[in-house]
Order: sequence, then structure tokens, then C-alpha cells
Amino acid sequence: MWALRDVFLPDGHVADVIVDGDRITAIGPGVAGGVSPATDCSGKLLLAAYVDGHVHLDKALIRDELREHDGTLAGAIDAIHERKRRYTVQDVSERARSVIEASVQLGTTRMRSHVDVDTIGGLTPLEGVMDAAAGCADIAEVRTIAFPQEGLLRDPGAYELMEAAIEAGADVVGGMPHWELDEASQREHVRLCFDLAERYDRDLDMHVDETDDGAVRTLEMVADEALRRRYMGRVCAGHVCSLAAAPQDYADRVIDKCLRAGISIAANPVTNLVLQGRADRGLVRRGMTRVAELRAAGVNILFGQDCVKDGFYPFGRGSMLEVALISAHAAHLTSRADLAFALRAVTEAPAQAWRLTDYGLKVGARADLQLLPVPSWEEALRLQPLPEKVWFSGRMAAENTVESKLYRSR
Ligand SMILES: [Zn+2]
Repeated sequence: MWALRDVFLPDGHVADVIVDGDRITAIGPGVAGGVSPATDCSGKLLLAAYVDGHVHLDKALIRDELREHDGTLAGAIDAIHERKRRYTVQDVSERARSVIEASVQLGTTRMRSHVDVDTIGGLTPLEGVMDAAAGCADIAEVRTIAFPQEGLLRDPGAYELMEAAIEAGADVVGGMPHWELDEASQREHVRLCFDLAERYDRDLDMHVDETDDGAVRTLEMVADEALRRRYMGRVCAGHVCSLAAAPQDYADRVIDKCLRAGISIAANPVTNLVLQGRADRGLVRRGMTRVAELRAAGVNILFGQDCVKDGFYPFGRGSMLEVALISAHAAHLTSRADLAFALRAVTEAPAQAWRLTDYGLKVGARADLQLLPVPSWEEALRLQPLPEKVWFSGRMAAENTVESKLYRSR
């Protein structure tokens, strides 16, 4: 048993926190009296460790090996093919592992990674990420989403590989219906993904409408299918860019369907800000889904890292604090309530999408925690500090020290 004394909680209150084994067993003013060891944390902020609900660990860090392309989603997918053919399990595992380790050092202890499942890379991306996840099981919990990046109907053989991926241990069924060539194929793609999920009793986490074209409307297909099959609260839709370009009355109707189906929306502004809207002249779209309206309607919204130095995005370092800051700029989040929403979008919201029941800064939750050298979440966002300590399952998983010096002449 150990304790932290006098931490600031995200709501501004000061409290002690007691951890026993892998659980938080008490939170409150003065509860650590008599517990040893207890660390004085006055002036510091305690947060639940971040959850990255949408990341692609299999393609992380390959950017330097790719040819230059036009910067669009299609350009990036195409440019990755050559590199994907050369993937080995060890190569994927090593790159994934370095991002997992960096993420833990920056305060993230749970990640859900999409892994490409297609006839180019086969199951190598899955096997590589699962190998990295097993190798990092002492510091983080990493789950996989079988993701048909090249389509299901467009890539004959991919559906059989998706079945094999689930059999081999992929946790969640992915999808990318808008990548199919016509509406009938998109609808069939959605149906196939739900069939697979039902057959294996898995949740769904699909790439949905990652395009500027407001006429692309597979989010509604996904919501309709979830409602029809009563797959409530078990579906996450990522990106959802085209919803922003759709007419208002249509968007209102689809947002209502998402709410009724308990669909979570993974907005990934950091990547979509650089991918989308490139062909626009005049009013330039920035790839943002309707965060404000989804939030007002009560839909669960998370922010994901999505990409780490891959073909889609040249930046990213596994920092959900950075993701929250960039997303706050993209989504006009500035008030106190807005900033609390940004915190939720990298903690409680992805945990809800993942249907975690043991997450959070609460008694009974798994002790995945981080201590930041600032007094508040608002200051953490502004100053982007490294967490001083990160705990995974009650055990210290990472520590950072920073020394800065200023040399004055008077
Ligand atoms: Zn993605």
C-alpha cells in the first residue's frame, strides 16, 4: 500500500490518494494519514493516465522510408503499399514498441491500435503489434482492431483475412466503408463488419467518412446497422470528416441516430488537419467533424493520436496532452468547461468507447495514474509538461525529470 498526499484533482480539490495492489482504494482529504510510504505532492496535479482510443501502431515511424506523395489520404495509402509489402513481424513490433514506450513516458497506459488487415501485408501488422503489446504488458495495455485499410470488396481475400485476424487474437472489428467504390459496396462492407462482430461477439471501431465529400454518408449506414442489430454502445466511428460538409438537417438526423445507437466518435484532428481540405480554394475545410454539435447532443467524443510519423502525418509522439492541445485549437475549445471536455476526450471518453469499467480517478479503478508538475489541467494543457511519474496497475512505469537553466548576466 502507498499513498500520494495533497494532490490537486482535475476539479481543483486537494486530496490524498491511496493505492493498494493495482487499485485505487481511497481518495479524500487527509485519508493518507498513517499510510507509508506516502509522498507529498502539494501543488501537483494527479490525473488518470490517458487512454489513446485511436492509433495506428503498425505504420508508425515509417515516414522517412516512403516516397513523397500529394499529402492526401489516398496519396498516403498508396505510398505505404511498397513499405507494407516489406513489413516483417519484428520490424512492426520494434516500431510499435518504441511508440508504446514513448506513450507511457508521456502518460498514456492504454491504447487501442488499428492494424492493417489486407492482401498486401496479410496478418504481419497484427502479429507485430500483438508481439509489441505482449512485450510491453508490464507498462501498458494495448488492444488491437483488425482494420481492412484497402477495403473488403475492393480487396478480394481481405474478409477471410479479417476472420483469421479475429481468430488470431485481434480484439475489435474495424472497417472502412467509405473506401469502397460505390454505395452498394459501402453498405455491404458495413454489413460484413457487423456480421463478423456479431459472430465473434466483438465491438466495432471503424474508419468512417474520412473525406471532405459531404455526399459520402456511411456514418448513417453504420448507425442504421447498429440500431437494427441493437448493437448499442458497442460501436466507435473514427474521423467522420464528411459530416462537417453535409447539409445541416442531414447532419442533425445522423447525429441523433448516433446518440440513439450509443456510438462513440473518435475525432482525430491532429491528422485530419493536415490531410483534409487540400483541394479547397477560398474556404478551406480542416477535416474536423462536428465536434460542437455532437457534444451538444450528448454523443461520446474522444480525441485520438491516430498517426505517428507515418505516411499520413509527419508529426506525433504519443502525447495525448499534445493531442488535446491541438484538438482544442481545431475545435474552438477555450472556456473552462471546454477544457474539461478536452480532458474527458483523452481519458473518460475513450475509456467509455472501450467499455472499460475499471478506469478513472475513483475508488475501485485500476491505479493507472500520472502526476504532473502543475496545479491544474488548464496549466497542463498550456505548459505541456512531462509527467513526473506514471503508474500502470499500481506500479511505477515511468519517471521524467527536466532541468532547465537560465543564465543571466545581472
Ligand atoms: Zn485512423
